[in-house]
Amino acid sequence: MFKHVVPGLFRLAIGMVNAYLLYTPHGAWLIDTGDISSGATIIKALQQHNLTPAHLRGIIVTHLHYDHSGGLAHLQQHGAPVALMHPQDADDVRRGILLRRPFHLTPPLHHLQAFIDTNAPSQPMGQPAHVMDTAVHDHIIDDVIHVIETPGHTAGHISLLWQMHGGVLIGGDVCMHILGLRRAVGHEDVERAAMSRQRIGTYTYETLVVGHGTPLHGHASAKVRQHFDA
Ligand SMILES: [Zn+2]
Repeated sequence: MFKHVVPGLFRLAIGMVNAYLLYTPHGAWLIDTGDISSGATIIKALQQHNLTPAHLRGIIVTHLHYDHSGGLAHLQQHGAPVALMHPQDADDVRRGILLRRPFHLTPPLHHLQAFIDTNAPSQPMGQPAHVMDTAVHDHIIDDVIHVIETPGHTAGHISLLWQMHGGVLIGGDVCMHILGLRRAVGHEDVERAAMSRQRIGTYTYETLVVGHGTPLHGHASAKVRQHFDA
């Protein structure tokens, strides 16, 4: 079920990943969609808010990975609107590709790199979904959601700065917040990911929410800056 983060923002933990429900003055937005089996869970959670997928004003997907874009096709089969993504990830999600190579695992997981490269599927894993590639840097969605390009984890990864309650950064996998701030489990481009972690430290927000882990409340941007600055 969706849990309150700040007024107008709710978090749905689906296994290891979070999806978010965010209310603008114009309607309800879903941010990220869980994995390919998450669609039904999300539909059930939306009912708690008297919403169906068809009631959503829009969907934003932070990046192409299966645990963020995987539920999208199922939701759209139940009436959900087209999703907004960055062009560099949108194209692959349209074709059902939900993980791209190379994907460099972050230490200490890098010991698993050879195993993953050999055994994990690298072919299209999902159903094609409807995506528009309008979520580019400094684009403002629905008057209040500011798109910040944060490439590295994937080439088209985006974060979202919601201009409410002192600012809320919805960071996707730009970093994690599991027993403290930490890097994502892996990256397409390790150096660009490091630059993106620094980039999110240059904005101001009180709260950080991410794809993996719990919300970080209170002076979140200062904590991000302190943690990730070289
Ligand atoms: Zn990811």
